[in-house]
Amino acid sequence: MPELPEVEITARRLDAAVRGATIESTLAPGLNALKTFDPPLHAIDGRAIAAVRRRGKHFVVDIAGDLSLLAHLMSAGRLQLFDKRAGLRDRTSRLLVRLDDGRELRMREFGTRQAAWVKLLATGAVEDDPALATLGPDAWPSPPPLRELLAGQGHRPLHGVLRDQRVIAGIGRSWVDEILWTACLSPFKRADDLSDEEADRLTAAMVERLGGALEHYEKVVTLPIPDKLPLPLEVHRRAGEACPRCGATIEAVHYESYVMCYCPVDQTGGKVLKDRRLSRLLK
Ligand SMILES: [Zn+2]
Repeated sequence: MPELPEVEITARRLDAAVRGATIESTLAPGLNALKTFDPPLHAIDGRAIAAVRRRGKHFVVDIAGDLSLLAHLMSAGRLQLFDKRAGLRDRTSRLLVRLDDGRELRMREFGTRQAAWVKLLATGAVEDDPALATLGPDAWPSPPPLRELLAGQGHRPLHGVLRDQRVIAGIGRSWVDEILWTACLSPFKRADDLSDEEADRLTAAMVERLGGALEHYEKVVTLPIPDKLPLPLEVHRRAGEACPRCGATIEAVHYESYVMCYCPVDQTGGKVLKDRRLSRLLK
């Protein structure tokens, strides 16, 4: 769930709160969360946090002495700062960074899947890690020239291409629906079939919606960082509701693990796209 605006606001809040704080001890209760073993996690005990920042949908926590934690929350993780330490029975804990003033930076994960991960790396090696080395340019604040970028992606539909972190970094299942709706573009429009004007609309929509979300979060998000961030969404997860722009009914296409939402009047020339879930049920 956390995409560029959610990771960015979290990194900003955490950076302001823990920069300069000293780490007392660390623990990785999640069986699979810590993906590296050399240097050991305890190498950062006793050191100060130098910065918390974002790269794509990843967090980087820089530690004094040239070490960095690189983390990805996947679909159900959170990075939060609490005044007190977690109980050892808290099953959501994946990584605990205990500060010497009693606070705790905690990576948690909800649900049964353990997909969120963290690596401890030399700071100089962070950008070379495969997770970051393969990232495309950030979608915000200054998206790359989209017509050229997308033309290289052939016939792939926009809905998939814009979520491909190797092409452009930061957009996921929530914000792709919002950006395409704002740009009045079909989710199935082919990447190599954008006019200059459509590419301009897409660029503007990206800046407006990702930047707008961040402005919203700046007003409403506070520490410890809520379990559920108040995403300012207009069409995503709103199937059956009225389109805020034209009043038509928002339609959805269901996939195995997510739902794509769009306005047929604004985006697909009035056409309601085949819902695979529905057609499977009817077979
Ligand atoms: Zn509409």
